[in-house]
Amino acid sequence: YQGLAGRSTNEVLQLYAAHGQQMKFQRSSIVTQLHGAIKKRLKQDLKSLRSFALELSKDFQRQSKTCLYQVLAAVQGIQLQNEAMQMFQIKAFDLEQSLQEVTERYEKEKQKRKALHNSLIELRGNIRVHCRIRPLLPFDDAAGHSVSQDRQRNLSEKAAYAADDETVLVKCSRPGHASVNKTFQFERVYNDLESQDAVFADVAPLLTSLLDGYNVCIMAYGQTGSGKTYTMLGPQLEGNLAFAIEEESELGIIPRATQEVFRLISEKPPGSYWVEVSVVEVYNNEIFDLLAKDSYGKVLGVKRDVITTREGKSDVPLLTHETVENASEFLLLVKKGLQLRVTHPTLVHAHSSRSHLVVTLTITTVVFGDNFGTLWEDEQTSQKLNKEASCTFPQKIRDSKSTSSSRASSPVQLEATEKMKQVKTRLQLVDLAGSECVGMSGVTGAALRETSFINRSLSALADVLGAIAEQRAHVPYRNSKLTHLLQDSVGGDAKLLVMLCISPGQKYLTESMQSLGFGTRARQVQRGQVKKKTFSVLSKGK
Ligand code: ADP
Ligand code: MG
Repeated sequence: YQGLAGRSTNEVLQLYAAHGQQMKFQRSSIVTQLHGAIKKRLKQDLKSLRSFALELSKDFQRQSKTCLYQVLAAVQGIQLQNEAMQMFQIKAFDLEQSLQEVTERYEKEKQKRKALHNSLIELRGNIRVHCRIRPLLPFDDAAGHSVSQDRQRNLSEKAAYAADDETVLVKCSRPGHASVNKTFQFERVYNDLESQDAVFADVAPLLTSLLDGYNVCIMAYGQTGSGKTYTMLGPQLEGNLAFAIEEESELGIIPRATQEVFRLISEKPPGSYWVEVSVVEVYNNEIFDLLAKDSYGKVLGVKRDVITTREGKSDVPLLTHETVENASEFLLLVKKGLQLRVTHPTLVHAHSSRSHLVVTLTITTVVFGDNFGTLWEDEQTSQKLNKEASCTFPQKIRDSKSTSSSRASSPVQLEATEKMKQVKTRLQLVDLAGSECVGMSGVTGAALRETSFINRSLSALADVLGAIAEQRAHVPYRNSKLTHLLQDSVGGDAKLLVMLCISPGQKYLTESMQSLGFGTRARQVQRGQVKKKTFSVLSKGK
């Protein structure tokens, strides 16, 4: 402004305009500069943004690629797994199938082995032993005397099991000792759930043998309350004697065997067979005929004796043999006989029977004609002969037999018009008295006497088996009436089945071990080959 002093207005205006223009110029150059800087900066930013975006997209691509790979790998993995799974499934299926095949083959082999074992038993004359373990029952819990509660609980536990259908497993545990497992092998072992049906299924083949000409004996052995009577007859038979036919599924071996025998006979030509029954009780070493009647027809238990015949067979002279035509007739007779069976309550079980019961079915087969070349097995010829003869003769036999009271009144006494062949086979069904030792039953007086007779007869049975097993020259059959009576079945040519009955409870351990020991020894007895009965020739003059 000092330079302006003294200058004209025009000049001032010119100067002012020039200054304005200069300022404008300066400003525009600053703006240009700024613009350039901003532009540069923006360019830079854009560039870095672009490279960032590029980087980002590259990164994204990389990541998505990895993801894709991962997904692909996962899908592939799943596919592989699926394939593997399918392979496994196929393998499992194959394995299952081969397991089934192996099981089937095993079952077949087992059956074959059993059949072979049975033939071996037959060839050696071995005694078959089956073992039945009954279920735990309410009376197993009943408190015994002087036993602490803890011990009581232990005592009502199971100690005997069926490990499989041929093995019994016994857990022997004593207080303060580690329990020891013992196993016993038998021809067949029934667990506590197996029915009367299952038991009889294994007995039935013996009845076919019976009609094929073999003697058969089935005896139940075991302590009181172990299920002998249940197995042989059925439940509650002794109590109210109502082993009603309605309870078919509960029937024991004796009624079923009779039904089966009559069924088998019904398949044979009519009249060629007939069946007689005797019911005997061995009590205090005496034999009682439970079918003997007095002159009024009342059934009495008449004492009989057992003798050895000249042929070396045991026989009970004067023993009542009743002819029966069907199973119900038979059952009625057995029921009547059983009403006389001596029973005495012991501490073990209220319905314990203190005697041995022997029910015998004698089957006589008659064949007429001159053609005696027939073998028993020759079913066709035998049937032909039977048909020729069946119509008249057996009726005669029955008419004269129905009043008979002795085995001596066999067809030998009958008027035979032609030569005939006959064979008698015998089915003995035995319900032995309880095998427990005296101390266990806690009996005294008369009952103690009974028990000691029972013990003596059962040890006589064991002695007889021992003597046969050791092939001793003398077998002490006559040491007791029981062994004398059963001589032909035990030592002779009968197919013998011992049905061991076992109470599973811990408190019966000693008795169960005793029974299992008896069964094991019985199994080892070899008596030589079991013989088939052949026809004996009878004729008028004989
Ligand atoms: P035992 O004749 O050996 O003295 P029982 O046959 O009288 O013994 O059996 C004793 C009790 O056990 C009976 O009440 C009987 O019904 C029952 N019992 C035995 N065995 C069985 C079983 N397998 N299933 C069901 N109950 C049984
Ligand atoms: Mg009984």
